Amino acid sequence: MRVPLIAANWKMHKTPAETEEFIARFLVLVPQTTAEILLAPAYPSLDRAGRLLRGTGIALGAQDLHPEARGAYTGAVSAEMLVGCGCRYVLVGHAERRHIFSEPDDLVRRKLQAALAAGLRPVLCVGETLAERRDGATERVLERQLDSGLRDVMPHAIADFVVAYEPVWAIGTGETATAGQAQEAAAWIREWVRDRLGRSTGDAVRILYGGSVNPDNASGLLALADVDGALVGGASLDPSAFARIVLGTGI
Ligand code: PEP
Repeated sequence: MRVPLIAANWKMHKTPAETEEFIARFLVLVPQTTAEILLAPAYPSLDRAGRLLRGTGIALGAQDLHPEARGAYTGAVSAEMLVGCGCRYVLVGHAERRHIFSEPDDLVRRKLQAALAAGLRPVLCVGETLAERRDGATERVLERQLDSGLRDVMPHAIADFVVAYEPVWAIGTGETATAGQAQEAAAWIREWVRDRLGRSTGDAVRILYGGSVNPDNASGLLALADVDGALVGGASLDPSAFARIVLGTGI
């Protein structure tokens, strides 16, 4: 039984004070749910969020990490530091990291390995650009990103894994994938995992959809057979909109 996961990626939004305000309001709106909820604030808010979320059942995650454990990497943050702030999850290979910061597949793999070594659960983000979809290359792109990201990962570690299917053309654009597109991609990812890492691993891995999820479209996307949750950017910044997404899914 896969527990649904609704994750908030706040990107470069919210100061620590604004994070605190969000959490206070959100906890009143969503005192409990059977879904797992994950908040991924920016680095400076992690420690405060970690303290506020302790004992609430809401998980904390980071948006990125550096693959090395320590050293002369000015501006970077290691997996161990994230664990120290209370993080249980970390996004790896988000489209904005891949495309704006030009992160290649092998760097994504090294980050994923560092996350696992520190006991963090990675949320591996994959997805095609609009040009790739138009070229009929969606599956080729997903295959490349999954193959690179999950190479060297033991099947038992993947059971704790989350894969987020986020078509790049749907992120922050207001253009959501249709139910058919989201289900097709999620089912393809699950089948790929079954094929490569075994049926039980494919059955256990949670697959999220991300890309302009909002309170009006969330329940339809989450009802899809192979979609186990959502990764939400813009609509997660407002506590009542994010609460409506969580509560509207009826989970
Ligand atoms: C994201 O940041 O992963 C995302 C899907 O953003 P948005 O919901 O704003 O499209």
